[in-house]
Amino acid sequence: MLKEIISLFYPQNCAGCKKPVHKSEWAICLTCRIKMPQTKYLKSEENPVKQLLLGKCDVEHAFSFYNYQKGQRVQDLMYALKYQGVTQVGDEFGQIIGQHIKKEKRYSNIDFVIPLPLHISKQRIRGYNQCDSIARNIAAIISATYAPKFVKRIRATESQTKKSHFERHQNSVQIFKIKKPVKFEGKSVLLVDDVITTGSTLASLAQEFNSVDKCKVFIVTVAIAT
Ligand SMILES: [Zn+2]
Repeated sequence: MLKEIISLFYPQNCAGCKKPVHKSEWAICLTCRIKMPQTKYLKSEENPVKQLLLGKCDVEHAFSFYNYQKGQRVQDLMYALKYQGVTQVGDEFGQIIGQHIKKEKRYSNIDFVIPLPLHISKQRIRGYNQCDSIARNIAAIISATYAPKFVKRIRATESQTKKSHFERHQNSVQIFKIKKPVKFEGKSVLLVDDVITTGSTLASLAQEFNSVDKCKVFIVTVAIAT
């Protein structure tokens, strides 16, 4: 009974801390928004995300917005987004990050915002790509074109453990294919992923855009796991 009364005033629970969200349509409550650890990498030219990508691809800039820590809010929110179908979490991550990107001069000329595609087999199982909602909202806020359909994932990432040390350091295996490369000639693209760990999958995607004439590549992930 008490729970029902409370739910009249607090209609929804936060996808991060599970506490009721007061009078808002948010999936991420105000407390979580304040407490999630921001990296501040957006403002730094050299940062750990750029370090991860160094020597694997060419990027104008790359950053993660939050630090991903086990047992913390960002992990709970990622779980809700990836495995529980709460795509509203992706919308809100995209809105938060988009607002910050909008204020950064070096990101003022982004033409296309592109979510890292899932392999079709994985997307069929999950039913959606968790990066789509993040990318779509960033694009809307920075007034760029959301372009989810121009890159195809031609292979699901293989397990790292099956590869030798040498193979792991080769980026010879093509994972992605751009459908109309000419569309991106002379353009700036912002590639979006949820969490960066080794950076090799994002680097493979960036490499494809590096082979397009005069295409500038930027990368953002919601979080970095180290
Ligand atoms: Zn919360």
